[in-house]
Formats: sequence, structure tokens, C-alpha cells
Amino acid sequence: MARKIGSRYTAHQILGRGSAGTVWLGEGPEGPVAIKTLREDLASDQELVGRFVQERTALLSLDHPRVVGVHDLVVDGNDLALVMDLVRGTDLRTRLDREKRLAPEAAVAIAADIADALAAAHAAGIVHRDVKPENVLLDMEGPLGPGGAHPALLTDFGVAKLIDTPRRTRATKIIGTPDYLAPEIIEGLPPRAAVDIYALATVLYELLAGFTPFGGGHPGAILRRHVTETVVPLPGIPDELWQLLIQCLAKAPASRLRASELAARLRELAPMLAGMAPLDVHDPDESDDSAEGDATDPAAERARSAAPEPTGTAAPRRGAVSLVPGAAPADSNRDTHTSMRVPAPDELAGGARGTARAPRATGARRPGSARNRHPARRRRITLGVVGLVAAAAIGGGVWAATSSGSDDTPPGDSNNSAPEIP
Ligand code: ADP
Repeated sequence: MARKIGSRYTAHQILGRGSAGTVWLGEGPEGPVAIKTLREDLASDQELVGRFVQERTALLSLDHPRVVGVHDLVVDGNDLALVMDLVRGTDLRTRLDREKRLAPEAAVAIAADIADALAAAHAAGIVHRDVKPENVLLDMEGPLGPGGAHPALLTDFGVAKLIDTPRRTRATKIIGTPDYLAPEIIEGLPPRAAVDIYALATVLYELLAGFTPFGGGHPGAILRRHVTETVVPLPGIPDELWQLLIQCLAKAPASRLRASELAARLRELAPMLAGMAPLDVHDPDESDDSAEGDATDPAAERARSAAPEPTGTAAPRRGAVSLVPGAAPADSNRDTHTSMRVPAPDELAGGARGTARAPRATGARRPGSARNRHPARRRRITLGVVGLVAAAAIGGGVWAATSSGSDDTPPGDSNNSAPEIP
């Protein structure tokens, strides 16, 4: 059913839903466009509308082949809409869900495109703040690049900033997507360009490994890992590529490369990666012992990871401590904006060191995995996880964290994988 957006645009059909609103296939005076209508609660916020108009010039002026261009911002009655270039293709999350891991050459080509987009944005003084596979669109009509990768474009510029009004996010709250959040944001520093580099390096790691370096389990645990844990090399990754990745995943923002340097370095690496198969990395969400009834369910695996041992005889698994009493760990948080309190330094300092999702080659056993040692007890843990109190919360302090149902994200408003545009 067609819907008028302002006087110049018509929205025809839903292309996808995101955390901030709905994206429509639409029509404008110059032809087909994509129209993002912001969520009702955002659109009815007068402060946000004012900001939206203020940001107009910056958003409209960002013109780069690797950036999804914004043509217009429409404020019309209850509608608040961004009119954008229509990208005929799919988003990177959909491709990743389908393929699990990309060949290094294709992963690097996509990351280089996004680094180009960021270089242009940063030069214009714009920080994206929400770089993640959902915000990377693949143009299936564009020419095939290295490793068979379609051109990648970065979208959703400025949307995180628009939502992050002072009233919505008091100084002590964080807006972002937990898996991709740079440690300095978690520690309460203002987001600068280096946060986008950290997020892009996280995306590149995910394209290579099939999972993010610090993801999994409760959002509070993910945040803590960003601040306290180090990332472990992926099996089989060429050293030059690994060095580049860890430099951009550095905890200190000043140690990370600038976007233009990152783009150049990635492109230098591409020829060396030509023809290389996707890395053979064990997915921590996949089960080792498929004989168990719940073993193939990633949610059950994460629940196992986050559950304290009921007997109190053994420590809960490293790196997956639930921070909210009785909170069932959820993984949908990767796809949603999360609004949570900035933890105090002592809360962050108490986390176990190491890597929560230490990658290993397929077939290799997880060292010291409780899952390998006590299958029967694990089943009991899984059954008992809901309602268990996470007494092991960092430093004994428990801090509130909500990923949905907060004032910023309505329940159930997570991304759906979007249809490909023919
Ligand atoms: P999010 O809020 O998670 O960033 P979006 O609201 O930007 O997600 O987008 C939701 C879906 O709509 C995307 O996954 C994508 O498939 C589709 N989409 C977004 N922007 C465009 C566009 N400019 N052209 C075509 N499809 C788009």
C-alpha cells in the first residue's frame, strides 16, 4: 500500500526494519529511492526533530561512492524520514548469515570500501558510531571486485548521533551495538573517529571468523570483554592481516590507524590473499557434542556459558558472567541498539582476563571446557539457568543493563533480514 512521505515522495513496500525505523522502497521526483521512516517514539520527540534538522546539512553534504547518500530529510506531521540512494542488493549481515565466513580477499575488499567511506566521513567531521554488518549494503549491480566482492557502501550515517540526544542518553548511558563498541565509549569518553575504526576491525574479524571477538552472552559481559580482554589470533590468518587487525582493535584509540591508512593497508594486502579459502575456524556457537538434545541450540550454549555452576564447586565459565540477577543471556543484542549505564572503573576492572571466545581450528577441543568434562551437569545448568542469580557479577557489584524494552529500543524491534532488491 503506497504511503505519501512529505509532498515529494511515496513509500511503496517495506525493504527492511532496523533499530531506528523502517526502510521502504520509494519513489521521488528523480526516480526510485530508499526511504527510512524513523520509529514513532523517535519521530514524536521534539528535541530529536530539532537535532534532525540541525544535522541536515552535514548528512546531505556527505557525497562519496562508498556512502549511501542522503538526498532529503522530511519532517511531515508524524513522519520523520530520511530519503536515501536505493542500493540494489543486500546487507552484509544477510550475506554473512548465508556464508558464515568470507574468503579473506573478499572480507578485506569489503572492509577497504568501508574504510574509504569512513575516511570521507571523518574528513567531514562526521563519526558514524554504529558500524556493523547491518549498516553495510552490498551493491549487487556494481562491478565485482577482489574475491568476488560486490561494492560495499556504508549507510545510516548520523542516525546513532540523532538518537543520542542528551535527554535520551544521560551522560552515564551508552548507545551503540555491544559487539562493536569501542572500549573508550564504555569507559564514558566521547566518541571520536577511532571508535569507527575499532568497529570496522570488529566487522572484519567477524567476516573472517564468523563471530565477533568479544560477543556472546549478556551485553554487560560483552562490554567488559571489550575493556579487559585481549583478542587471540585466528587460526591460519596471515600475520600481516592479523597485525593490522590488532592494531585497529587496540584499546587505546590513539594506537589505531586512521581510516585512509587502513583502506590503503588493506588494499596492499589483497593480492597476497587472492585465492585463499575462508579460514577454518571453529564457531563457538556450534556444538561439539551433538548427542545432547540442546547442544545444537546456540541460545542454549550461551545460556550454559553464562550460568554459574549450581553446586558452587566450580567457577562459571570465563568471560560470560551475567551481570543482572536472573537475566537470561540473549544474543539478539548484536542486532539492536543497547542503552545501558556506563560501568564504574572498579566494575570493569574485576573481569577475568583472556578471550571469551578463543578461536581454535575446527575439530580442536576447547581447552578446559566444562562442556567437555561434565555433560550431565551441563544439562542441569541449562535447565536451571532462568532464574539463577549471577552471584559472580564483577567485583560483587551488579549494574543494570537493558538491551530492549528500554526507553530507546522497544521490545522486539530488532533487525529482520531484509529481502534482496531485484
Ligand atoms: P539498522 O537500523 O539496523 O541500521 P536499517 O534500518 O538501516 O537497519 O535498514 C534495515 C534494512 O533495510 C537493511 O538491512 C537493508 O537491507 C535495508 N536498507 C536500508 N537502507 C537501504 C537502502 N538505502 N537501499 C536499499 N535497502 C536498504
